[in-house]
Amino acid sequence: MRNWMSLQADFGSFQHRRNVYVFALKMSFLAVVLSGVIMVLTIPPLGFFGLLPVTLSYAISFGAIFSWLVGGTVSGMLSLAAGFALHELTLSRAEFEKLSRTDTLSGLLNRRAFTEALEKTEGNASLVIFDVDRFKAINDRFGHACGDAVITAVSGMLTSTFDQISIVARLGGEEFGVIVSGEPLEARMERIEGVRARIASGAIKADGHDIRITVSGGVADLVAERNKQQVYASADRALYLAKALGRNRVVHEREGLHHAWHGLAENGVDVEGRGLESDNVMQAYGI
Ligand code: GH3
Ligand code: MG
Ligand code: MG
Repeated sequence: MRNWMSLQADFGSFQHRRNVYVFALKMSFLAVVLSGVIMVLTIPPLGFFGLLPVTLSYAISFGAIFSWLVGGTVSGMLSLAAGFALHELTLSRAEFEKLSRTDTLSGLLNRRAFTEALEKTEGNASLVIFDVDRFKAINDRFGHACGDAVITAVSGMLTSTFDQISIVARLGGEEFGVIVSGEPLEARMERIEGVRARIASGAIKADGHDIRITVSGGVADLVAERNKQQVYASADRALYLAKALGRNRVVHEREGLHHAWHGLAENGVDVEGRGLESDNVMQAYGI
C-alpha cells in the first residue's frame, strides 16, 4: 500500500506498460485529493462572506464534479501521455545500453562489458583468454568474410561449452575472454581443454570451404583479493606462452612455467615482448 501511494517515478519502473497505468492512476487520484483539499479550504470561507454565486450545497457539488473531471481525468490523461513517453524512452535506453555492451559480429559481450564483469567476479573462477591461431593466414587464404564466419563459429562453440553462470566475450579481433565460474579448478580446466580439443577436431564450413582451425588459451585464477589487472596480465602471459610452445594448447599460469621459461629462453624464443623477464615471471607466479 505504501508503495502504491508513493509517487516516486523511478525510471526503471516505466519498462512495463502496467506501471504506466498505475502511475497515471496514482497521479489522477492525487489530483482529485488535492482539488478536494482546495475545495474544502476555499468554498466554506467564500460561502461565509457571501461571495458564492450559487448556494453552498451547489458549490460543493460543482466543486466535486470539477475536481473529478478536471483534476482526475485531465491529469490522468496527461500522466498517461507522459508515462508512455517515458516508457518508450526507457526501452530505447535499455536497447542502447545492450548495444553498447554487445559485439556486433558475434553477438557476445564486448570488451567493455567483459571488463565490468571481471571487476564484479569474486573468487572460485578462472579467466581464460582464447586466441585463434594463425588467423591472419585464414583471412589471407579464404577472405575476410570467411574469417568473420570463423569468429562467429568459435563464438558459438564457446557459448555452448560454458554454462549460464560463465561469461563469454569477444575481446577484439580473434581473441575471446571467458570467466569460468563454479566447479573446482580441475573441472574448469577440463572444460577449457575440452573446447580447445573440440575446435581443433572439427572443420568450420564457410563459403564452400572446410576451414580447420586451432586455438590457444591462457588461464589465470580469480582468487579473492587478487587484483583483476594482474589476473588479466597473467592469463595474457600464459596465452603468449601457449603460442610460443607451439599453439593449439591451453596453458595455466602456474603450469610448468618455470620449466617453460627456461626452455623458451634457451631456445631463443622472444619472451620479452610481453614482459616475461625472468624476475617478473618468478615474482608474478611466486616461483
Ligand atoms: P597468432 O597465432 O600468433 O595469434 O597469429 P594470428 O595471425 O592469429 O595473429 P595476428 O594478430 O597477426 O592476426 C590477427 C588478424 O585478425 C589480423 C586482423 O586483420 C584480423 N582481424 C581482426 N579483426 C577481425 C575481424 O573482425 N574479422 C576478420 N575477418 N579478421 C579480423
Ligand atoms: Mg591469433
Ligand atoms: Mg589475437
